Amino acid sequence: MSTGHRAGSGRGEPNRGSRPGRGRRSAQRPRDRGRTGDPARRTAYGVLRAVAGGAYTNLELSQALRRARLSGRDAAFVTELVSGTTRWRGRYDAIIAAAADRPVERIDPPVLDTLRLGAHQLLGMRVPEHAAVGETVALARAVNGIGASKLVNAVLRRVSERSLQDWLDATVPTEPEAARLAALHSHPEWIVKALRAALLGHGAADADTIDAELSALLEADNAAPVVHLVARPGLGADEELRAAGAQEYALARTAWILPSGDPGAIPAVRDGRAAVQDAGSQLVALALAAVPLLGPAAAAEQRWLDLCAGPGGKAGLLAAAALQAGADIVANEVSPHRVDLVTATLGPLIASAADLGRTVEVREGDGREVGANEPGRYTRVLVDAPCTGLGALRRRPEARWRRRPADLATLGPLQRDLLDAALDATVPGGVVAYATCSPHLAETLFVVEDVLKRRTDAEVVDAREMLVDRAGERIGGVGDGPMAQLWPHRHGTDGMFLALVRRQDRVSSSS
Ligand code: SAM
Repeated sequence: MSTGHRAGSGRGEPNRGSRPGRGRRSAQRPRDRGRTGDPARRTAYGVLRAVAGGAYTNLELSQALRRARLSGRDAAFVTELVSGTTRWRGRYDAIIAAAADRPVERIDPPVLDTLRLGAHQLLGMRVPEHAAVGETVALARAVNGIGASKLVNAVLRRVSERSLQDWLDATVPTEPEAARLAALHSHPEWIVKALRAALLGHGAADADTIDAELSALLEADNAAPVVHLVARPGLGADEELRAAGAQEYALARTAWILPSGDPGAIPAVRDGRAAVQDAGSQLVALALAAVPLLGPAAAAEQRWLDLCAGPGGKAGLLAAAALQAGADIVANEVSPHRVDLVTATLGPLIASAADLGRTVEVREGDGREVGANEPGRYTRVLVDAPCTGLGALRRRPEARWRRRPADLATLGPLQRDLLDAALDATVPGGVVAYATCSPHLAETLFVVEDVLKRRTDAEVVDAREMLVDRAGERIGGVGDGPMAQLWPHRHGTDGMFLALVRRQDRVSSSS
């Protein structure tokens, strides 16, 4: 099937010069396309509507591609159409509002989604102009109605009259700076401000460098991420990954990059010896596995705990490392659906553990209760806390538009309670890794500092010493310590935060 497009174009920052692909002809126009819209664009539209109703882009996209039986170039086209339209939504809404001469709030949401798809084809992808407009109007006729298709036609024709750069000149304010960056890089303004504070607060920038660092971070959020794989240690996946075209990634000893191809087609990925996993997440799990234990924890039976394990990415790596270290591990998760995902992820490791006389156990429960139920039981505990995910915006195209500052007020107390419970459940001399895929200060530094202020039995260990690359060298650019922050624009990973907190013997507050 062909959709009048060039698949795989338009990744990252759209071409700012003259209208991309202007004048090129559609490769093929099936006779009935004018009435129904082509399957690729209909599929993309369906995904956008599902996401507007609360679905996650990536999950919905892969299900929709399967349902529509789209693969190869067509699947790549739909993927770029959905991901790009969603990432650049803020930018396109400003352009659509100008072209339609009305605020986007006064456009029916389904029609607005159709317009956004058209705007991305015109300004962010190398789709020929007549195909971008004609096929999107046909889609509008099919899914939004004849009346709406006339509006779509008029607005897209106006959009097509200017280059992206001209539209940016017309729609991006020159000040204030946060508003300018928000419009230019298509982020909500509150996120721009939070990322600015995070870069400064984690020591990644100072007054002289903040503007360049922030722009680089916002740009990285809009780039399609490279596929990282993990070869879970001790399970013999390396040669299969190499044979599938994956390349060793220098950043972490378990990490690989897959430049092209379907990871699900690799047998080691299908049977759980390897998996798709961001290298930053791998580094967090490897750091916890490597930190030296002291005192009672060094002498204790080795029991590890992943307190918030769903869907099981880090648990998979930790469990493999635990078996190598002769430890048992419990993977706990509160959401029943996610418990099932953890069980599926850990399946092969549960079987290997039994052969080794060890246990890999999946458990459903509220992590906040583990401290009271199992005080001082574990030697290494991971708290990969529920968070806003502001460090993983490039992987979750809709997240920036869905998150609200108010989410921090709900997450903050939960994050503190989980870290507290994890410390209670840790043997003195053992270590808790507190991690988030967000650099927001309110869910990183402030959480750890607050919890440690209230306790006399915990201290922060220098996480930077445990963040080492494939060659065993310390990874730079993670801040001044002792806590560490990875960055998409610096490390090519998600923006993972890591604090390693050692449990000490309780010291009475009167002493
Ligand atoms: N470590 C996971 C991985 O690498 O796949 C990701 C963990 S995700 C950031 C946070 C998880 O915490 C979610 O699965 C969420 O359901 C879970 N969660 C939220 N509240 C919890 C609680 N009170 N106890 C345990 N888990 C909780």
